[in-house]
Amino acid sequence: MVQRLLLIPDGMADWKNPKTGKTPLEEADTPNMDFLAKEGACGTAKTVPKGYPPGSDVANMTILGIDVRKYYTGRGPIEALARGIDTRIAFRCNLVYVENGIMVDYSGNRIGDEEARRVIEALNSEVDEGVRFHCGRSYRHVLAIDREFEEDEVKKVKTTPPHDITGKKIDDYLPEGGKLAELLNELIDLSKTVLPEVTDRANMIWPWSGGRIPKFPRFADRFGVRGVMISEVDLLQGIGRALGMKVVEVDGVTGYVDTNYRGLAKAALRHLKEGFVVLHLEGIDEAGHEGNYELKVEAIELYDEKIVGYILDRVDLEEVSIMLLPDHPTPVAVRTHVAEPVPFLLYGGKKDGVKEFTERSCRKGMFGEVNGLKLMNLFFS
Ligand SMILES: [Zn+2]
Repeated sequence: MVQRLLLIPDGMADWKNPKTGKTPLEEADTPNMDFLAKEGACGTAKTVPKGYPPGSDVANMTILGIDVRKYYTGRGPIEALARGIDTRIAFRCNLVYVENGIMVDYSGNRIGDEEARRVIEALNSEVDEGVRFHCGRSYRHVLAIDREFEEDEVKKVKTTPPHDITGKKIDDYLPEGGKLAELLNELIDLSKTVLPEVTDRANMIWPWSGGRIPKFPRFADRFGVRGVMISEVDLLQGIGRALGMKVVEVDGVTGYVDTNYRGLAKAALRHLKEGFVVLHLEGIDEAGHEGNYELKVEAIELYDEKIVGYILDRVDLEEVSIMLLPDHPTPVAVRTHVAEPVPFLLYGGKKDGVKEFTERSCRKGMFGEVNGLKLMNLFFS
């Protein structure tokens, strides 16, 4: 059996830095990724479908062959999946501050975790069967509704992200559309009496971006192997779980450049005999969000040496097939994700003339620009 390894360095792709004339990936010394590109074939992949936000959720779902146009029902459901919350319907739920009917602060004046926990507890003591608030960090929580609703009742609910209506009258943006919207409005009303008893920072809940928890097609049914998901972040673990993959946790990981590279690489090697391993690393993306070019270059070099190099030294290169790509670019210049195609390489089959793994060189690869949704078909063909 061919052993397949999918490597996802989160947010690695970038733009040319005006000072150096190079992207962080071009600047970094990456002999191991360059080896894979040289001995394999390259291209670029569109991992964010038109009209979707370039989040890690959308991009990684697409890479793993899940059509977001069919299965992306909102941020709430993806967060519920990520956190293993067992429910039928989920919404993102902010703690917000509203004054005279105006949305003053979508972040509950940056309420602290401990205060937020007490708010969520107080809310849960007041709600009926089938409704539960799940505590996250600060103002970001999940509202789980585990009740029977008709399909179109769920679909026709209209909500608005609270950060889009700062300074505006909330009356025009309250949940609308049928019975589920009515329940949301009842919960909002309830929160107006509960929150002031516990905190001054927030005085209302604001549910948004919700829907039914999607049932992804099982990875095994489509590609003949269950797959193993190794990631430092619960989002990827949740996507893996929803695909029916085995989720492997690694000790001592930080989701940052100082993570336990050895532990992550070893876990990938250990599970490779199961046929398919996804190894996702978060740290490079964080350097992008910090807008730190030097740190991003360093994070890419560490990744190349301690993940890619470590693995290449220990696998049978005849037996293994490797696909490597970032989920989306996180350019240091804008410190956020963008929806542009990413470079990818596929080692273990054909070869093209590309000699190094960079944004620019991969554009000349034999695959050209591919639809991200087709990457797994390419990998498993
Ligand atoms: Zn990402």
